[in-house]
Amino acid sequence: MAEQHDVTRRNVLKSGMAALATAGTFTTVFAQQAAPPADRSASNPGPGNPSLAQQNQDSFMPPPTDHGDEPAFKYSFSLSHNRTYKGGWARQVTVRDFPISRDLAGVNMRLTSGGIRELHWHVPAEWAYMIYGKARITAVDSQGRSFVQDVGPGDLWYFPSGIPHSIQGLAPDGCEFLLVFDDGGFSEFDTFQISDWMAHTPREVLAKNFGVPAAALDPIPERELYIFEAPLPGELTSDQKTSSGSQGSIPTPYFYRLGAQEPAKHTRGGEVRIADSKSFNASATIAAAVVTVRPGGLRELHWHPNADEWQYYIGGKARMTVFAASGRARTMDFAPGDVGYVLRSTGHYIENTGDTDLVFIETFKSSYYQDISLSQWITHTPPQLIAEHLHIDKATLAAIPREKAVVVPL
Ligand code: MN
Ligand code: MN
Repeated sequence: MAEQHDVTRRNVLKSGMAALATAGTFTTVFAQQAAPPADRSASNPGPGNPSLAQQNQDSFMPPPTDHGDEPAFKYSFSLSHNRTYKGGWARQVTVRDFPISRDLAGVNMRLTSGGIRELHWHVPAEWAYMIYGKARITAVDSQGRSFVQDVGPGDLWYFPSGIPHSIQGLAPDGCEFLLVFDDGGFSEFDTFQISDWMAHTPREVLAKNFGVPAAALDPIPERELYIFEAPLPGELTSDQKTSSGSQGSIPTPYFYRLGAQEPAKHTRGGEVRIADSKSFNASATIAAAVVTVRPGGLRELHWHPNADEWQYYIGGKARMTVFAASGRARTMDFAPGDVGYVLRSTGHYIENTGDTDLVFIETFKSSYYQDISLSQWITHTPPQLIAEHLHIDKATLAAIPREKAVVVPL
């Protein structure tokens, strides 16, 4: 009832101020003051962080439909500690900073032209989206089959659990990309590095293992490199040929050109491209969608029955309300570089609140992409049953889209 009272009070205040503004006399008085809020309860005379407040208006003045104390489902790479090297940098968002994100963790990495993310491996699988520039990626599977590929904006890669790999930035300006791991507790700063292992193995054992004189191994670094500068690699075809040898190359490629894919859905409101193991066969544990929402558009009300959703915002401005049952709902705002997280089967929408295209990535710890559309549910249920629940008339019900739009308007 308290919330209901707040709704009423806020609406009364808003309409009251609008009426006064129209009347004229009050407008002049107010114009001399420092932009007073239309609703006096929206003022904040105490300390504030204007740039942060500006980006999070739905936290300070939530829509009246929000209710309860849902934990935050937003974090930002802007808050992450960045590890910087000659050759690039890396920062991460894991469950340690972002407690809701138990199933997935993310890394944002920059490599300069020639900059190398050291040869390494780790327990979780690694899914990647190229944001900017070009990179050469390499991997080898358990049968010694090799993989070397150049990737650019809109491309994906996927390295299964335990598969060793590397990434190198190419000319002219290296690259920047997003990594997603199928374990929220994973740390990118705690991976198995080739140099680290060598440095912590008795030198005579290394010599015996490789069948070479121990002295020949003296140049091996004393500690891990992680990211370092190096000359640019040669031609791609030459690298592919020299590494494949007698074992050949990996039959199911670890990369996918998602940007070149026709959108799975295209409406006036925007479009969506989907990559899961059906289209990107190697990607066995991470499914993803890249969504564009035009100004005024909305990623429709839906939920995902199969997995939690880890989001990364690439461009534009958005707000998302997550509905968590028992009247609980919370709205948060998103900007480029922000991460969002939605628990499995909790209802949500993402609205473009800016005047440019909103672009974001949805990732899931699953082999397949799946969502349930509120509109599709309503329009594929006996109409009388819907009317008895929602008390809406026939014309309204008939106007609701019967097919899953993903992004509205149709
Ligand atoms: Mn990795
Ligand atoms: Mn979703």
